[in-house]
This record gives sequence, C-alpha cells and structure tokens, in this order.
Amino acid sequence: MGLVKRDENPRVPYQHPMPKEAQPEIVVPDAIPADERLWVPQAENVWFRPLCLNVSQGYWMNLLRVRKAGVLSRHRHPNPVHGFVLKGRWYYLEHDWVAEEGGYVYEPPGETHTLVVPDDVEEMITYFQVNGVMYYVDPQGNHLGYEDVFTKIDLCRRHYAEVGIGADYVDRLIR
Ligand code: FE
Repeated sequence: MGLVKRDENPRVPYQHPMPKEAQPEIVVPDAIPADERLWVPQAENVWFRPLCLNVSQGYWMNLLRVRKAGVLSRHRHPNPVHGFVLKGRWYYLEHDWVAEEGGYVYEPPGETHTLVVPDDVEEMITYFQVNGVMYYVDPQGNHLGYEDVFTKIDLCRRHYAEVGIGADYVDRLIR
C-alpha cells in the first residue's frame, strides 16, 4: 500500500481557495503556435517560443526551434537545464549522444556545449527549462555574452511589438 490515505471522494474538487499569495496559473493552448509571429528569432535559423518567464526564480520555459543547419551558439550553464525533444533530432558537439524525438535530456550545472541540428533534419523543436543564465563563450571559455530571463523578456517585447502582436503579449507569461 502507498503512503497516501484512501480518498473517499476522488471526484470532488478542493473546497477552499488557493493560497492568497499564490500566483495565477498559465495556460497556453497554442504552445506550438499556429501564428508564426509568436516564434521569437534569436539567431539565424533559431527561434524560441516563450511559455513561462519566471522572474521570481530566474528561469524560463520555452520551445526552442532550429531549422536546417542552425546552431545554438556555445554556452555554459551554471544551473541545470531540462529538455524534452518534441520534434526532430539534435546533438552537442561536446557529446557523442543524439537527442531524439520523444527523448529527455538533463544538463547538469557546469555544462558547456554547442547545439547542432544534423543536415537531414528540416526542423527540431525541444521544450527546455533553462535556469539562471546561458553564458556564451568562445572555444576557450572566454565570455561572449549572456542571456537570462530578463534579456529573454526584452527580446520578446521587442519582437512582439515589431510584428504587431504587441509588447504586452509577454506579460501573461511572466511570474
Ligand atoms: Fe544549453
């Protein structure tokens, strides 16, 4: 038997309000959007679709899309990353495994890697939780730039304003 007592009323909803400090939930029905404009360009052949931009804990949930020979530049993660491959296939120049559709990847703190999509893959989409910062480096580890949840928000605002969705679209994804 499990550690949880038997529920005599399994279909009865919780009868009390949520804690008053709890933030509102986020529901994104079009996570993989029909509206192409929701993909925010971040490099040649690389886009992201923000889902949750968490400014109180410093992480972001997003879909990363890479098309044809796109590369996600070499970067270091001081914090863990979780990924789930929704479509296509990719690998890191620094590792000998390939992340395949349906696969899960954990990237431990301390990882530095370069994400590459094989030539025979038209498009890959991966759901990533990125914590803290992506610290972009040259092959020797020298600093080239960084991204965090705040630079991601800025990028989204600028792009959504430009394409006519409106900068404030991003507000619904911030917690
Ligand atoms: Fe990474």
